[in-house]
Formats: sequence, C-alpha cells, structure tokens
Amino acid sequence: MTRTINHVLQEGTNLLKAESKENAQLDARLLLSNILNYNRVELIINKDKEIDKIVYDEYMSAIKSRVKGVPLQHITCEQEFMGLPFKVNAYTLIPRRETEELVELALSLLDKDHNQLIMDIGTGSGCIPISLASYNEKVNCIGIDLSQEALKVAKLNGQINAVADRITWIISNLFNSIGEEYVETVDMLISNPPYIKTEDINSLMTEVRDFEPHMALDGGKDGLDFYRVICRNSKKYLKCGGFIIFEIGYDQKNAVISLLEKNDFIDIQYKKDLSGKDRIVYARKKGTQQSIISSRGELDYVK
Ligand code: GLN
Repeated sequence: MTRTINHVLQEGTNLLKAESKENAQLDARLLLSNILNYNRVELIINKDKEIDKIVYDEYMSAIKSRVKGVPLQHITCEQEFMGLPFKVNAYTLIPRRETEELVELALSLLDKDHNQLIMDIGTGSGCIPISLASYNEKVNCIGIDLSQEALKVAKLNGQINAVADRITWIISNLFNSIGEEYVETVDMLISNPPYIKTEDINSLMTEVRDFEPHMALDGGKDGLDFYRVICRNSKKYLKCGGFIIFEIGYDQKNAVISLLEKNDFIDIQYKKDLSGKDRIVYARKKGTQQSIISSRGELDYVK
C-alpha cells in the first residue's frame, strides 16, 4: 500500500488523540508541514502524494516527541509572532499571543517620524525588539538577556527578519553590564520579565514546566523580583518623558502600579488582554519630555 500524506496525517492525528492531546489534528498537520516544508494549502493539494520512508520515520519521531509533551515549537524550532518568523529552542521562552498585545501597544505609543531607542529587558528569542524594529523603521533597539544561548537565537532571529543592523544585543544580568553611554538615551523600556511565583512553577502545565526555561518564568517569591529592580534602575537610562512598559501576570496590576508610583513614574495606565485579564502596565518617567514624544498630541505635556 502506498503511504500518502493523508494516511500519514491520519495516523499522526490518531496517535496524538490516543494520548488525549488537545489540538491533535492541528499539531499533526503542523508537524508534517514543517518536515515537508509545505504550507497548509500545499498539504491539501498534495494529499495523495506518496510519503517516503525517511520522511515517514522523521514524522513518527516528531509525533512521539509531541506525545511525550515536548512543545510543538521545540520540535519545529519555530514560532510565528506578530506575523514574523522566529526560531526558538529550549533556552528561549516560546513567544506568546499576549506578548503580541504588548508589542502592539508599544507600537501605538511610538513615533513614526523620529529615531527612537528601545531597551528590552529579558529579550529571550528577541521577539519584542525584532517586531518593533520590523514595524517601525525609526526604531533602534537594545536587547538584553543574561543567557548567552538565548542571545544566539535572538541574533539569528534579527538576521532572519532583516533588522540586525538596528539591534544591539547585550549579555547582562538586568542592568549590571549596561554602559554609561546609555544613561538617559532610552525612549522606551519594555519588558516581559519572568513573573511566576517560585512556588507556583510546579503547578504549571507539564509542557511549560518541563520544557521551557525556568530562568524565563521564575519571578521569585512573590513573582515581582524583576519589576522591583527594573522600576528602580530604569530611570537612569530612560529619557524624561520616556515610556516604561511591562507585561504582567493577571494578578500583579496593583503591585506593579505601586512599584511605579514608588519610583516616581507618572501617567500610569494599564490594559487588559483579549481574554479580559490585566496584562500590561505602562507609565512615563517624570520630567520634561524630549522632542521625540512631542508629536503625539494626546500624550503631550510637561510635568
Ligand atoms: N521577551 C521574551 C518574550 O516575551 C522573553 C521573555 C522571558 O523570557 N520572560 O517572549
């Protein structure tokens, strides 16, 4: 019997379903698309095409990894974010849908006419600065991460998305290795820091707990360790009037707002995500704003 794309897809779907995997059909399709380098339509058009043994074996081994709980993105090594292709591996957090909302808000706050410098703390795959630079050509970014392995992936992603010339990658434990040349140069500081309470890590879904880097998840005893340090130290690098913009956990809005207040940030606002959970808190550094921000009418003011 010839083994066609359709047969193999059915077999993959059945194996995933037997292990009660959610999205069995979708995952079966995405894994085969990835191996064959076909898009969704090509897979349908070629449904009766024969699959050779090498491809079949590779596909079955991908399905088995998925059955064991390995995230789909760690098998395909990719994740789309903001409509752009990103490479991911076990050293980088898999970019999330919620973080696209953070990027969309950041883009709406940025100016399209003047050069702006953005600093991303805990850049991981680099999905935030790379998307900002891709959708606003006036943007230059600094992507900071403590993990050299993550920065290798981020650098590659910058090249894949053709924005490498506008992003500087710095290995640093938060601000520890950030040079004095960046003092008061940053127009927007953005971060999706680790924000899970240490004691809650064990109750995360297996796929996250066992496969994603704990370094990218663990926010310390109360989940707020990174917000505390970033709120305290970011003022040194931000221009007056510059934005600070955070992704937060669903129950961290009030705590992060009070950290911002304690550190004299002004114009503090928050935003819910599409599922109605508090997800973003943002504010501005007190002081006379710089020219870059002055073209946005409704945000214009001097304090
Ligand atoms: N900035 C990256 C992202 O949003 C990594 C975040 C992290 O590792 N906490 O996906």
